[in-house]
Amino acid sequence: MSKGATYRELYLACRARLQRAGVEDPGTDAALLCRHFFSLDRAGLAVHGEEACPEGLREKFLQAQEERAGRRPLQYILGQWDFMGLPLKVGEGVLAPREDTAALVEAVAARLPRRKGLYGVDLCAGTGAVALGLCSLCPGVRIDCIELSEKALFFLRENLASYPQYPIQARQGDICSPQDAQAIGPLDVLVSNPPYIRSAVLPTLQPEVRREPSMALDGGGDGLGFYRAIAALWLPKLKPGGLVGVEIGEEQGEAVAGLFRQAGLTGIAVHQDWAGLDRAVTATAQV
Ligand code: GLN
Repeated sequence: MSKGATYRELYLACRARLQRAGVEDPGTDAALLCRHFFSLDRAGLAVHGEEACPEGLREKFLQAQEERAGRRPLQYILGQWDFMGLPLKVGEGVLAPREDTAALVEAVAARLPRRKGLYGVDLCAGTGAVALGLCSLCPGVRIDCIELSEKALFFLRENLASYPQYPIQARQGDICSPQDAQAIGPLDVLVSNPPYIRSAVLPTLQPEVRREPSMALDGGGDGLGFYRAIAALWLPKLKPGGLVGVEIGEEQGEAVAGLFRQAGLTGIAVHQDWAGLDRAVTATAQV
């Protein structure tokens, strides 16, 4: 790249570099890097694209470009990612929020009674995306977020602190541990996006996902380990009429609905994400 590179040249070179590196959507990633470093969205690039980029800024941009070409997740490079319109802090050690997860949040919000004083938990809370998304739709629901990973807890606490209007707390705990579950409940609502990928599938995932914590992805041999723990330790804490909603892998709808049925829940429903894939299961405890 010549010294007086323009924003437009930098954008085009970045797109080409990311394409060669096998990045799935190089145009979008290059545009998001431009927005982050240059404060220029696509319209801004059209207007200011022929202006020369200051050298210091160009160096930062090129460094980020090389990290992205090395398949570091874009979310980690930017350090922030939106979920349901809420900017959340993300980085190494926590699962980046996915748009798919909005299907869980919306399905739970649609079934949650509009009553004051509701209390719930978000299990395997990660960034806090699910709890924050739910509170943004149903303000006033008090939620305890349970998260085991120290690194994830750092991001969780930062994100909760950014939204002090929502009554959400972080607690360190292992959702599979009867001791850790003991003190909590009874629950009006339980939400979770647990790890649900089959262990054998993990090494086949795209390089970006393999740089996310396997602890947030690995659901054990059949991918259902955490749903079993939820059924055994947490569903009994639901109050009569209490609501559960979990995110699932697209092929797990029947299996998870079956676990909920065995646990005696009613009104079991499978919900699709924006791509039309099964992505969440909700159910209620019998009254
Ligand atoms: N949807 C995530 C992925 O496919 C998986 C999230 C999870 O295991 N909870 O990368």
